[in-house]
Amino acid sequence: MNLTYTTVRSAKRKNLTITVERDRSVVVLAPVGATDEAIDRVVQSKREWLFEKLQHAPKYQGRPHAPGKEVVSGESALYLGREYRMTLTSTPEGGVVFDRAFFIPQGDRLQTRQAFRDWYGQQAKEIILPRLARYAAELGVKVAEAAIVDNRLRWGSCTTKNNIRLNWRLIKAPMSVIDYVIVHELAHLLEANHTPDFWNIVRAKVPGAEKSKAWLKAHGQLLEEEI
Ligand SMILES: [Zn+2]
Repeated sequence: MNLTYTTVRSAKRKNLTITVERDRSVVVLAPVGATDEAIDRVVQSKREWLFEKLQHAPKYQGRPHAPGKEVVSGESALYLGREYRMTLTSTPEGGVVFDRAFFIPQGDRLQTRQAFRDWYGQQAKEIILPRLARYAAELGVKVAEAAIVDNRLRWGSCTTKNNIRLNWRLIKAPMSVIDYVIVHELAHLLEANHTPDFWNIVRAKVPGAEKSKAWLKAHGQLLEEEI
């Protein structure tokens, strides 16, 4: 397989950074002084990792953002795979409260959205990270650093340094789907590529893996709706 990439040099850059864009093109951000040969050496040393990233299908094709929902009373939003109603409350202070419905402090449009996103991010940290730690222990893999991030390109990723990043929007998905994404990324610490061995590891841990994979494909854009 041929690995093609675009190099962008910048005076501000001290280190080389390789990124995989939404359209799966590879872009190398490099310091001005970096020679083509030096850059190519680094890129080639990351071949395996890059091919792995390139194999991951983008979450969906087309529009970068779904048009999204208004945060208004009566509208509903997803949490752990279920829709719950939103109610705006008149207390301007404090964050979102969840009690079989979302109670969101009323602010201006941006504040209200931000409060809701903050709440989702907090839930993602509290719910996803401990599960990730538990699965890591069960699989006997060592995660250097796990984080919940705002990533528009993918649901989860792992780096060659054993760092795992998971998209906060996953908290809108059913727990079985969250578990699938967690185990998928952890399994990459044992097997970099999507080999039969890789899928055996994933299926052994999450029996509904195929269903979850299909769910993400079908409903991924729903999680992506702007809040
Ligand atoms: Zn993968």
